[in-house]
Amino acid sequence: MATERCTRIYCANCIHCKLVPSPAGSGRYYLRVRCDAGKWLKKTGGEKIYKYCTVSQRSLDTCDSYEDMGDGPEFLKDLRLTLPAVDEVYDIPEPAAR
Ligand code: SF4
Repeated sequence: MATERCTRIYCANCIHCKLVPSPAGSGRYYLRVRCDAGKWLKKTGGEKIYKYCTVSQRSLDTCDSYEDMGDGPEFLKDLRLTLPAVDEVYDIPEPAAR
């Protein structure tokens, strides 16, 4: 029976994993994640970004740029429970009236 390795690196627990908005048109946006250490690359060399709803799936055996955010395993468990199940579109908030 296979056992899960407890040494696996999860990008969601790394300081370089950043949540960024991506324009969706009509004043709306998607949420995306990017690696600001430049580790996520397309085969063509450009930067690869991923849908926020998939961030808990980004894991590696090793990464020389990994910097742990210090959150325990509960963080990843809570993240998996609270992530949207699909790619969602958000409205850009209206500026507050003065
Ligand atoms: S630096 Fe490595 S561990 Fe951190 S987000 Fe980028 S690829 Fe993931």
